Amino acid sequence: MTQPAYKRVLLKLSGEALMGDDSYGINRATIERMVADVSEVVKMGVELAIVIGGGNIFRGVAPGAQGMDRATADYMGMLATVMNSLALADAMRQFGMVARVMSAISIEQVVEPYVRPKALQYLEEGKVVIFAAGTGNPFFTTDTAAALRGSEIGAEVVLKATKVDGVYSADPNKDPTATRYASISFDDAISQHLQVMDATAFALCRDQKLPIRVFSIVKPGALSRIVMGEDEGTLVHV
Ligand code: UDP
Repeated sequence: MTQPAYKRVLLKLSGEALMGDDSYGINRATIERMVADVSEVVKMGVELAIVIGGGNIFRGVAPGAQGMDRATADYMGMLATVMNSLALADAMRQFGMVARVMSAISIEQVVEPYVRPKALQYLEEGKVVIFAAGTGNPFFTTDTAAALRGSEIGAEVVLKATKVDGVYSADPNKDPTATRYASISFDDAISQHLQVMDATAFALCRDQKLPIRVFSIVKPGALSRIVMGEDEGTLVHV
């Protein structure tokens, strides 16, 4: 059998990816399908860490947070990522997988705190590690948490799951002539003002020479194909 292209990857799932076609919250069928995709990758022997967003439950800059102190709203957003992480870990448990949730903010009765050596140990043991509560700091995003944790654990790539199957020359929903890049350098993505991740996350990946692959979470089997080295979505490289 051919070997996977990676030994250790960081998967970034947006909170919205958990909604499926619902308008908020967690869609059961969607999370189960995601877990099935993830289990394929774990079965290949790839070490997998996940950062999950919270946008399906709460976003610090959303209309619902208007008038709120930004830092307070952001802490609510981080707590939303903890809920998603718990839901994901539980769905994995039901699927027969072993997952550990580690939180960047201290809520030890609920989840264990993020401790880097412990996270590395879990990964080496073949457990899926879910990083909850983003970076633990307001004014950041879970994309930045993905870049940060990906760098810390020595992931070879950040796999950013979105609803669109890659990075396009323009918004494919608005411009029918938009074309998808198979790969693009960090510098070209910047000069062409292409939105891959938020600026902080993007800068961290570029500095750390950590490639990002943007792919569609909606396409069945895409995650496995990427891990096997197939050219799916868009690779953003140094
Ligand atoms: N958040 C934060 N610091 C972090 C990560 C997240 O303050 O390090 C808050 C922020 O309010 C954000 C919310 O949590 O709007 C949810 O995260 P994000 O928007 O990245 O989730 P996604 O869009 O991936 O669902």
